[in-house]
Amino acid sequence: MSISISEKVENSANKAEYNNYKKIVEQIKQVSFESLDNQGISNKSSELRNKLSKGASMEDIIIEAFALAKLAVKRVLNISPYDEQLIAGIAMHRGRLIEMQTGEGKTLSAVFPAYLNALSGRGCHILTFNDYLARRDAAWMGPVYEMLGLTVGFVQENMKKSEKQSAYACDITYVTAKVAGFDYLMDSLCYKKSELMLRPFNFAIVDEADSILIDEARIPLVIATGGEQDENTLCLTMESLRKLEPEVDYGKDEVKGNVFLTQIGLTRVEAMLCCGNLYAEENFNLLSEVQNILHAMALLTKDIDYIVRDGKIEMVDEFTGRVAQNRRWPDGIQAALEAKECLCIQSKGRIMNQITLQSFILLYKKLAGMTGTAKDSSYEISEFYDMEVLVIPPHIPCKRVDYPDVIFTHKQAKYKALSEEIKRVHATGQPILIGTCSVEESEYLAEELNKIGIEYKVLNARNDEFEAHIIEQAGTLNSVTVSTNMAGRGADIKLGGVDGTNRDKIAALGGLYIIGTNRHESMRIDKQLKGRTGRQGDAGMSKFFISLEDDLIKRYGIDKLISSVLRPGNQEEPLINPKIAKKIGQVQRIIQGQDSDLRRALWQYAFFIESQRIQVHQRRMEIVNDTIPFNILGKENPELFTKLTNFFNESTIIELEKQVALYNIDEVWADYLAHVEYLQEGVKLSVLKGKNPLLEYQIETDNTFQKLALEVQKRILQDFEALEISQHGLNILKERVKPPSSTWTYLVHDNSLMGPLSSLFIANSISSLGRLLSWPVLFGTSVYKKIFKNTSA
Ligand code: ADP
Ligand code: MG
Repeated sequence: MSISISEKVENSANKAEYNNYKKIVEQIKQVSFESLDNQGISNKSSELRNKLSKGASMEDIIIEAFALAKLAVKRVLNISPYDEQLIAGIAMHRGRLIEMQTGEGKTLSAVFPAYLNALSGRGCHILTFNDYLARRDAAWMGPVYEMLGLTVGFVQENMKKSEKQSAYACDITYVTAKVAGFDYLMDSLCYKKSELMLRPFNFAIVDEADSILIDEARIPLVIATGGEQDENTLCLTMESLRKLEPEVDYGKDEVKGNVFLTQIGLTRVEAMLCCGNLYAEENFNLLSEVQNILHAMALLTKDIDYIVRDGKIEMVDEFTGRVAQNRRWPDGIQAALEAKECLCIQSKGRIMNQITLQSFILLYKKLAGMTGTAKDSSYEISEFYDMEVLVIPPHIPCKRVDYPDVIFTHKQAKYKALSEEIKRVHATGQPILIGTCSVEESEYLAEELNKIGIEYKVLNARNDEFEAHIIEQAGTLNSVTVSTNMAGRGADIKLGGVDGTNRDKIAALGGLYIIGTNRHESMRIDKQLKGRTGRQGDAGMSKFFISLEDDLIKRYGIDKLISSVLRPGNQEEPLINPKIAKKIGQVQRIIQGQDSDLRRALWQYAFFIESQRIQVHQRRMEIVNDTIPFNILGKENPELFTKLTNFFNESTIIELEKQVALYNIDEVWADYLAHVEYLQEGVKLSVLKGKNPLLEYQIETDNTFQKLALEVQKRILQDFEALEISQHGLNILKERVKPPSSTWTYLVHDNSLMGPLSSLFIANSISSLGRLLSWPVLFGTSVYKKIFKNTSA
């Protein structure tokens, strides 16, 4: 394979950096603390902490700190960290995202930069992939930090507030990005300093970083309160639209996630709804409704994309194939789905605040990451997070054999070959792990295995811990495990299972055999699956079985790219043609590029609102933390203020004023978010009309935002002017401006910003880039970070 010039440069840059870190590792190994007893280690650690507080930089103490941590690891866990782990540790301290194969010991590598950075006393978060791993890793590495005199905690989604507060107060906190993000949103509605959960964000190490930084980056975390139910015509519209015929009345483009009315369909809809021109200005809401319903009908399939349980729509996560807790589609689509399934429309609540995972991660002053698969996305990671990827080679070279894909003309032939392969291999005792792309496929395969009498385990549990324990045993003799792609990420699969029984025998059989039943849209996910075998230089092998009828191939029209010469009619034998495999790889790259464009375009919109959100949040925190004197009333209506001071203590008034201010800031912000959502609907329409959506959106939102501060001030004054001056009046006002009594948090599924028309709008905003070139477009994340890094949170 030829290597491109940019790759060569990158490799040599990588190499220089790597060698540089290697030299530091040599210095670390020169330091001998062996003679220190446990108390001595703790004392030495305090000494380092003192040095920092007296003005030494972390760079000044890195050698000693790493050497000390290395000794603590040896004492407590009885393992000697490898050089590669120390190198990874240094790289993460320097803000890199390290790519390190599964099973190489990333959990341990993170201890070094976490320790060094937490010595400052400003805290370090290790953002894990799920709650179970937060718990596991804190328990696993906790004793090391404790020997070093640091405190360690972990946070779980359903912990009590007080438990979370103490976990966040620790030097090191293990927590998922989602939970930390939700807690941040909770804090953003908080009225009292003593009730805040989080400290200002300092340093985060993101584990399984590609998943959070790329795959989940766009997901908004939302906090909402009760809210009133919308009166709507949705169910009626739904009933009409059910009569539409697919392909005649509407068509879809699954690649772009679009569905559109045909001319025939449009005429029918206009007749059914008696609305005149559907695209007319006054039918704005109706058109959105129609779009959402079409999306729900045409693009979302029950039992694949969602299930219905207890009268509720539950989304199925496309990556894990499991029900995604607390996650929903954008409101319009969620409601349309509920109408489609004839469920009563759930009250959508009022959104009080929201933040995407990407923006949340960027609130940290300093970031590092680790994962088994990052290289393929290094460009994007650098662009969005200002973070460079460093590849750390495995401690023992990887011996895994990746066989070429076996490609069939149709699904039936693929499954037949799969069954035969499983049966043949299983007879030898070699363990097999089969990665599928959906719960549905896992279940189908399980049926097939039943037919040929093979015992297996299927991962469709909803419990991460339970799954991790099954996955950990996937490498034992005779075992067959069927799992959706990403279930059990973070679990370590040792040959022979946790206790390593029959290890050598299994290695002689070829190690754990990974079978992929599909190629995923993202090459990274395929690599994750392969990476589950061949850990730490073990034997291992992988093979993918594909058919030209697979979703990926059909959805992206790869079958059409393959000329009929290469493509015979259905046949039972695999197709032997490297060109086809190459095409699939190409398509994965195209999809990756498209996804990346989508994220880039959405970022331009999200960036705008996020920078406003940060300003509001900062102002709000100044009030909560009492960092600036606050007295709008005294300034704007001194007469009233004086009058009030005749009745109440000045401090009582100022305290009440703070409460009134916080309440109104939250109200005004929530109204603004609703307005933004409304504008986003408008953006969709302006795309349809061929206008420049980004520019219009920016002008509109900016105009409105500029007026928010005045609006807040106006409402504060109004509240006081309407106050009846008596203890009773005061109590009434206090009661009204209380924090919301109940809030709930949830995730909105991908594409939330633009919903069904996202691709349309992207095409437009990308083509208009040249004309546009207004500052936010040129604004990369790095600039953004420079502006907001030190002021956020
Ligand atoms: P990763 O997160 O990179 O997939 P883990 O952190 O889960 O890997 O570690 C995988 C396994 O490697 C664990 O069982 C751990 O105990 C072991 N391990 C890590 N570092 C070392 C080391 N230096 N020596 C021996 N075993 C190690
Ligand atoms: Mg891990």
